[in-house]
Amino acid sequence: MNEAIYQRFQEICRQQRWKCTAQRLAVFAYVHDNDDHPDVDDVWREVKGTLPSVTRESIYRILNEFTDHGLLRRLDHVTSARYDCQVGPHGHFLCTRCGQIQDFPLPEPVTVPRGAISGDVEHLELRLTGICKRCRKPQTKTRKPKPAIQEKEEP
Ligand SMILES: [Zn+2]
Ligand SMILES: [Zn+2]
Repeated sequence: MNEAIYQRFQEICRQQRWKCTAQRLAVFAYVHDNDDHPDVDDVWREVKGTLPSVTRESIYRILNEFTDHGLLRRLDHVTSARYDCQVGPHGHFLCTRCGQIQDFPLPEPVTVPRGAISGDVEHLELRLTGICKRCRKPQTKTRKPKPAIQEKEEP
């Protein structure tokens, strides 16, 4: 593990008054600067490599805790929730065949006419869907499809 990541994580734990647990640290190390928009199973698979006894439930809880504290952004209504380390406004292009999500900068700040919404906006997302370049070409290898959601482990 990279020392800088560890330092950054310790700093976050201090701010949030979290215990620096091995599980939180492993999740943080994997998701920070990860622009693949992983889902809970991607994170679980990775963390199990170093912490074999970790449950999918714990990973899920940590990801949502990170989301609640603004370290991640959760993208719902895809195939399964995906987590994004870029929390600032940007657009997403979702390939409906392989599930890959690409980021793109928004061309200009999105503005909503005054009075068009009654309520406070907390989340803005521009999501485009289609078929990515790799899936468009039939002869090239596409990303492995996401495995079906696994049942959670018995405690
Ligand atoms: Zn694709
Ligand atoms: Zn993104």
